[in-house]
Amino acid sequence: MITHLSSGLEDTPCLLCGADAALPLLTSQVQLAPGGSAEFSFVTCGRCGLVYMSPRPGEEQLDDFYPPDYLPHRGPAAWGRWSPLVKRALDRMDRRRVRLLLRHAPIAPGDPVLDLGCGRPTFLRALERRTHGLAVGIDTSDRGWSEERTAWQGLHLVRGTLAEEEDTLRAMAGSGFRAITLWHALEHDPRPLATLRTLRRLSRSDGVLVVEVPDLASLTAKLSGPDWAGFHTPRHTAAYAPHTLRALVEEAGWQPIQHLRHGTLDPYVLRWLSVMATRRRRLSGSLEGDFPRFLAGKVAWLPLSLVQRWIPLGVQVVVARVRR
Ligand SMILES: [Zn+2]
Repeated sequence: MITHLSSGLEDTPCLLCGADAALPLLTSQVQLAPGGSAEFSFVTCGRCGLVYMSPRPGEEQLDDFYPPDYLPHRGPAAWGRWSPLVKRALDRMDRRRVRLLLRHAPIAPGDPVLDLGCGRPTFLRALERRTHGLAVGIDTSDRGWSEERTAWQGLHLVRGTLAEEEDTLRAMAGSGFRAITLWHALEHDPRPLATLRTLRRLSRSDGVLVVEVPDLASLTAKLSGPDWAGFHTPRHTAAYAPHTLRALVEEAGWQPIQHLRHGTLDPYVLRWLSVMATRRRRLSGSLEGDFPRFLAGKVAWLPLSLVQRWIPLGVQVVVARVRR
């Protein structure tokens, strides 16, 4: 690994196959954070085809790109008087996540379920209410839950990295997790292969893995080019096409059983964020004034939502079992 001393950036071998065979693909400007016109490079691995960021910021330097006003951490409140509508939409997304999981892994009361990168743990809350499973969440920051502890009572929330907390999580899960979910977390991970291998070790022998990430081979990616919100520059370490996502999951010892080219996050949100990135909007203040146009765009987008099972719009989900 070569460190660019002047910039603190590190050249990175391929996150999937380890090759040092990067071919330049594109440069993309910082999105949703201070950093002005700073640009980061995404490359394609000449051996396996994975698209990933290289060189990339070190993990400590990355903290600068999660400022206190980082939109995904602000929740519905960012939308001012429209926040009840936004909250309802997010609640619907959590229910879609619960339904998707339960289609593949019935959760009995007490069954341990792990959500990696749980953020504000609304999905775990919805899952725990529906199933009375043992809902465990882990995130590197506790910003998502530390200020409203009473709202999250009954959930088991761990702050730290998976590598640091593997033993803690194993102790919580007993004979292993019945299900493990990553909702838009894997694409932030600097070592996704190691993470998926650790999760396999933490899984029960009949455990199910659900991974949702942006889809590089989708309409929103084609429409938006380097400003596609799926790059989330520079926080996403890789942009997964369907074949590289599947290859990564398989390499880590999981057997994919379903691959959807749609998911639980509305791809219109990716499209809207991409347009905002092209306009160099940081979206750090109130978004109340943006809501009417956001909604008008959503209405115009509705016909596409109806065909998203046939035309991949921006997100994908792999469901996998432990390979025996
Ligand atoms: Zn590779």
